[in-house]
Order: sequence, then C-alpha cells, then structure tokens
Amino acid sequence: MNKILSIGIDSLDPELLLKYEVDLPNFTKIRKQSPVIHSSSVFPVDSIPAWVSIYTGLNPAKHGIIHSFDIFGSSWKDIVGIDVNVFKGSTFWDRASDSGKKVCILFPFLADPPWEVNGLMVGRSTDEFHIPDEITWMIRKDITTCPAKARAEYGIPDSIKGVKGRPPSKKDLDKYIDVLKANTIEEGNLALRLSKEADWDLFFMMFSWLDIVQHFFWRYCDEEDPTYPGKNPYQNVIKEFYQIYDNILGEFMEAHPETTTIVFSDHGHAMRPVRTVNINEVLRKKGLLKSRSGRISPAPFILENLKRISLDLIRKFELDHLMVRVSKSKALSSISKDIYMSSASIDLDRSMAYLSSFAGPKSYSHGGIEVNKGNLEGGSYEELRTMLIDELSGLIEPETGQKLVKWVCRREDLYQGQNIHLYPDIVFELVEGYGVYWGIHTPLIGTAYEHKLASGGHHRDAVFLIANCTEQPKRDNISVMDIGPTILQLLGIKPEEEIDGKSIF
Ligand SMILES: [Zn+2]
Repeated sequence: MNKILSIGIDSLDPELLLKYEVDLPNFTKIRKQSPVIHSSSVFPVDSIPAWVSIYTGLNPAKHGIIHSFDIFGSSWKDIVGIDVNVFKGSTFWDRASDSGKKVCILFPFLADPPWEVNGLMVGRSTDEFHIPDEITWMIRKDITTCPAKARAEYGIPDSIKGVKGRPPSKKDLDKYIDVLKANTIEEGNLALRLSKEADWDLFFMMFSWLDIVQHFFWRYCDEEDPTYPGKNPYQNVIKEFYQIYDNILGEFMEAHPETTTIVFSDHGHAMRPVRTVNINEVLRKKGLLKSRSGRISPAPFILENLKRISLDLIRKFELDHLMVRVSKSKALSSISKDIYMSSASIDLDRSMAYLSSFAGPKSYSHGGIEVNKGNLEGGSYEELRTMLIDELSGLIEPETGQKLVKWVCRREDLYQGQNIHLYPDIVFELVEGYGVYWGIHTPLIGTAYEHKLASGGHHRDAVFLIANCTEQPKRDNISVMDIGPTILQLLGIKPEEEIDGKSIF
C-alpha cells in the first residue's frame, strides 16, 4: 500500500533551487527524479490564502481566507481572528484520516491548536510569550499535540522559539538568523524522529521560516537587486537556509528510501518590484478617482508631494527600520500605512473607482480595483468594469513603450465562490518588475518605497517535486489547490467532486 511523505516549505522557490543546485545535492537529486511539473500559487499570492487552498483544495473565493501579512502589522488583528473552523475537518489529512489512513501531521501553518485525527497532529499554541524583555522580535510558543499524551510518549518538547514577522533592528540581524536556523534544525530533527517512530500512511511536515528570511535578506543576497550593498556578511544567508532544508530532505530520503516523497511550496520568492505603477493616478486622470484637492484646498496635492519627499528620504538614508519601529506604536501604525496608501488624499465617496488594499500595503505585481457602486454617475457597473479593463490593458510604460499589465479581468472570471465579494471588482497582474502603488498627483511610474525593508516578495511560481512514484502525471502543471487531491489519489482515496483542486494523476 502507498505511503506518502510530504514536506511543505513556505516560499521555497523553483528558480533558487536551480541557482543553488550544486550546493543542494538532495533537492537536485529529487528534482532529477521528478517529472517536471510547474506549480502555481493562488491569487493573491500570499501564504494565508495559499496554504488554506492547499489544505482544502478550494479556491480562495470559496474558503474566504484571503488575509495577508504586511510589514506594518496593520492586519495582525484580523489574522489572529482567522476562524480555523473554516478548514478544520476538511483538510486533505482529515480526509485521509476519515478514510482510515494513519496520519502524522506536524506544524501546519494556521491549523492551531491541533485537532483529533487518526494518528498524531502537532502544532504551536496561538499564544506567544517573549523571551528576554529587550528582544522584542523573538517569541516562544507552547507546542500542543493531539492526542495530548503523545507529547510524553514521543518526548516532544514543551515549547519552541520563533520570531515575529517584522524585521529586527540591524544590530539584531545575526541573532535573528541564529534563532531561525536553530528553530528550523530543531523542527527538522523532531519531524525526522517522528517519521521513524510514529505509525503513518500520510506524513506531512510544514516549515515556515524561509519566507521571512527571503523577505528581509533578498537584497543582501541578490547581486541583481539595485539595493544590493556589495560583498556583505549576509550574502549567503538565503543559500544557507536552502542548505538546511536540503540536509533535512536528505535525512528523510535516507530514512524512507522507498516511500513516495512530495516536496512543495505555497508560492516562490523573487526580488520585490523596484518600480511601481501609480494606478490611482491613472484613475484620477480618467476622472474616476477624485482627490480631496480642489481650488479651495490644495492640501492633498501638497500632502502627496510631502509624502513622496519623506519616503524618498527614508529610502535614501536607510531609515526603513526606524519607520517600521515607529509604526509599531498603535497610533502611528495607521499613519504609516496611510503614507503608503494615500487614503487621506482620496475622496472615496466622490470616486467611482480606486486601487484596492485587499492584499495589504505591498507593492506587489498583483492588485485590484474597487468600484464604488454607490456612485456610478448614471453608468452601469458592467460598463464601468469593461472600461477599467480596457484602460488597464492599454497601459504602457512611457519610456519603453512596453505593456505594463500582464492580465486583467473581472473577479468572477478569476474565481467563483460565495466569498468572491472579498475580492476587488477588477483583478490584475502587472508585468514582472512592477508593483502597484497608491500615489496620486505623481508620475505614472514611481519607486517602490518599501523595497529595502522587505526586498524579497512572493512569486506565483511554486515548487512541486515528487520521487518514488510509479504513476505518471497526466499534465505538467499543478495549482497549489491540486496538491491535496493529488496526495489523496496516491493514497487511493477518491477525490471529492465539489472541490476546485484536481489530482494530476
Ligand atoms: Zn508563503
């Protein structure tokens, strides 16, 4: 009977597996064994919607969890409030467990605290507590197991160190890296030991920290990044993390040489765009977005320009860390977020359309436009959407004449589901290298101000590798929604009709 060993690594990138291939013998070995399968993430390309889609096989408009992290931590309250019951009981491991398979499930992101399965589930508590008072970026979380007695039975530690998703100050970068490395190795050793000691048909371990490492250290490691500082103490940090995962993978494959092994990620990682397209300015020029500025009050015009000047200064003098530290204080958090998102300068009531903030204040290449249905000025909603799609499709980079928008469509043409209203009315993706920005009264093309702070960004291309599998895949592409159904089919469990994901076998 088939056993499946699956390892999920947040933000593991297919291009970097190639770039570092000589230093990653185990990834390279599994890559050469695996059929070539191009994996792609969900929209928006963020960990939270992507992992829930991996767990459930549902598109994000169906499961409705499209929250995303941002560097200001401004959406943290919503994230803590995510209702686990949306997917508890309907994940791929729940389906395997319900079908009588023994499962061993370790640290699945968001799925805390662990719940009852046919086998063992291990997670972190949702509470966190700081260790030494002066180190505000480090946390320690309780480990919880279900069943509870499994902790003593397998000698699972009580708690585990981690970090917060915000960058530490420069003086703490070394300590920050050390904590993440130690944690990853410790989790890997625990997972390896449980894979040998526990009884399972389906094993799933998820690793979380690579995403944060790539966000903060991208510009220190990528010579192509315009903010690469030259030879520096952090230039190999990302590669070193890939090597830690490579070691862990090697140990798993040595311990389970015959077992079907799947390694996958929720999305990849790449340089965050350095240039932005000021979508709101496009809308303002078309008369669809109204600035608060008028003949009587020139304030928004001045505000936007002051903002640009202050962001330029922050960028020039590398004050980025300071800015996020300032934004941690509650009162200032919304101000810093507004600095990015212009909301103070836009008259939302009088506007017909404006750039959405649904994926957080991030200059990513994916974005959306909200239509103000209360103010269509006599036109129809669909006419306005058609006009917006035409307008965006035609956007051209003024200097090169290159198209700026890769694709643009109505939200219903992207996904269908009862939570589609959570998406902006129009969704789109810009071409590689360009991110969205909210500025008005500014040129069409601008600078991505938060690049230095979080120079790495999510990329739609993800990893899906499979070894020791006798079946041949029917296609060479997979969506992250297809991963659960694929695992279930390999376990001999019939896929559910009503979910979006389909097995590739
Ligand atoms: Zn992720």
